[in-house]
This record gives sequence, structure tokens and C-alpha cells, in this order.
Amino acid sequence: MGMRLMIGNLKFMVDNNVGKLAKWLRIMGYDTLFFNGSDDASMVSTALNEGRVILTRDTQIMKRRVVTSGQLKAVLIKSDEPELQMHQVINDLNLDCQFRPFAICLECNQPLLERSKQQVERRVPPYVFRTQNQYVECPICHRIYWRGTHWQAMTRKLNKFVGCQRNREE
Ligand SMILES: [Zn+2]
Repeated sequence: MGMRLMIGNLKFMVDNNVGKLAKWLRIMGYDTLFFNGSDDASMVSTALNEGRVILTRDTQIMKRRVVTSGQLKAVLIKSDEPELQMHQVINDLNLDCQFRPFAICLECNQPLLERSKQQVERRVPPYVFRTQNQYVECPICHRIYWRGTHWQAMTRKLNKFVGCQRNREE
């Protein structure tokens, strides 16, 4: 029980050398920042201040005192293939693939807000409007998400390439 709580609180800082991880972690519902700068020190200090786990391929990060002392958690990613990278992260940190689907905008990392069917009328394709009942919207980019084929395909891929079990049915 305590373990699950801890997993639920995990937040990430994804280094630009493993950038593809950001989207997949957000699909799973984990709060994930993507570091796109060149100043490692600012990435490290943001991660430290916000309690984020750093994911990186940079061995220099792993040698920093804040990391070796255990003050800041960082995971050195071994593979350069995104699918193997996800596999490693999920296994090393014991992540839940179905943690919070549809919780976070894949582009902005913002918590998504529930919208009624009426609220999205004329903002989604007619076929989607006819066939989908649950919608969420990003308050920043105003992208609307629904449980359509695109999302299902991503979830299937995630489950497949990480060998993740479905923990609960919606
Ligand atoms: Zn957004």
C-alpha cells in the first residue's frame, strides 16, 4: 500500500538524450518534464527542487554529488532504443502502465480536465462525437482527447513493448 502511494507520487525529468520517454510516461499519467536545454546544472536543480527523478544517458549526471549521495534520484538509461528504454524505466522503478490514463496532456504535461459531450460538440470530428462519450481537454493547448483508436493503439503498443499487465479495467 505504501509502495503504491510512493509510485503514485513519482515525477520525472527526462533529459533530451532520452526525449521519447516523455510522451510514454505522460501516456501512463506520470508528471514528466522534458529538459531541452544544454545547462545540466539547471536540469539538476529543477529536478531537486521539484522532487523529480532524472532519466538520462549521461554518465556525468550520475557522478554528481547530489546523485551519489542519494539526495536526487537518477536512472542511467542503458539502451538508445526508446522501447528498451521504456522497458528499463518501468522495470527499474516498478511503474504502473495503467497508472492514470487520460490524466496529462502529451504535449504540455498539464492535468487534463473532464468535458461533457455538449462542451466538445463542433470541436471534434462528427464521427468521434457520435461514437465517443468521454472527453478531456488540456487547459493550456486546448487539445481534446477521447478514448478513440489513436489512444487505444498507443496503449496497446505500450502494453506490448513493455510486457505490462493491465492492472484495472475502466
Ligand atoms: Zn496541452
